[in-house]
Amino acid sequence: MTAPVLEVQGLTKRFPIQGGLLRRTRAEVHAVENVSFALASGETLCVVGESGCGKSTVGKLILRLIEPTAGQILIGGTDVSALDAASMRPLRRRAQMIFQDPSASLNPRLTAEQIVTEPMENYERLSAKGRRERALSLLQRVGLGRDALGKHSFEFSGGQRQRLGIARALSLRPALIVADEPTSALDVSVQAQVLNLLLDLQDEYGLAYLFISHDLGVVEHIAHRVAVMYLGRIVELADSKTLFASPRHPYTEALLAAAPLPNPRTPRDRPVIEGEVPSPISPPSGCAFHPRCAYAITRCRNERPELHLTTFGSLVACHVRE
Ligand code: SF4
Repeated sequence: MTAPVLEVQGLTKRFPIQGGLLRRTRAEVHAVENVSFALASGETLCVVGESGCGKSTVGKLILRLIEPTAGQILIGGTDVSALDAASMRPLRRRAQMIFQDPSASLNPRLTAEQIVTEPMENYERLSAKGRRERALSLLQRVGLGRDALGKHSFEFSGGQRQRLGIARALSLRPALIVADEPTSALDVSVQAQVLNLLLDLQDEYGLAYLFISHDLGVVEHIAHRVAVMYLGRIVELADSKTLFASPRHPYTEALLAAAPLPNPRTPRDRPVIEGEVPSPISPPSGCAFHPRCAYAITRCRNERPELHLTTFGSLVACHVRE
């Protein structure tokens, strides 16, 4: 059996809050707590949740843009969580990122050709001709023509810049792409084009996507499986069809109920979430969702629910949902 492209076990990240003259750690932000999942070649796992739930931190941890506090990250079966920079080098090629804001992630002083060939110069032994040929082929594959080679990022539209970001992410032929809200800065009409391009590229190259998004419409369109995060923890993990048809965790229900409806006058058939997300510095005891949950029982305040398999085939962390 081939190893998953990505496997995450017990991933945890706490950011210390320091203060005082001696800069002692006074508290910790519980950004990601004990997150585990696996991702296969050709699969899209979407991570959703309200802002501050830890979904973007998970993406950064996987690419080692920030260091985990605990847990393991296996890319292609190799544990990269404790590797130093030199040992990480060969594995960097296997996992790449597409950012939310292509303008901020592309160097305006470089041409499109330089942007796409730069990772090859750093990580591959290709001749200048080979790099140029691959750059041209990638730019054409993402829908930018030969004339794009000599242009700078500010000469492109928002959608074209994201296409350029995708070409750069593909330049080292990765197996895994972490895409952090890659379409949320784009116009709706362009969003659909970029999403369809990502789907085509996945079919063509067998890419695994860890797709971070707050847009449930986008998620329903592209996800094979969905992980719902609340205050740093996965509270539901299910295949996309099951999750959208039969959400089991009360927080998932509330998220779906809060999604915009085509006709805002249509009555909602599920309770909409109320209240603010509690502070990740001192998360509530027991189930962290209990202060906002319409189904909470006494046990919820005292005992944290673990993920368990429900009769629907989804994994859910809830005391009352089977
Ligand atoms: Fe609500 Fe309790 Fe389930 Fe948490 S464990 S989601 S508080 S019912």
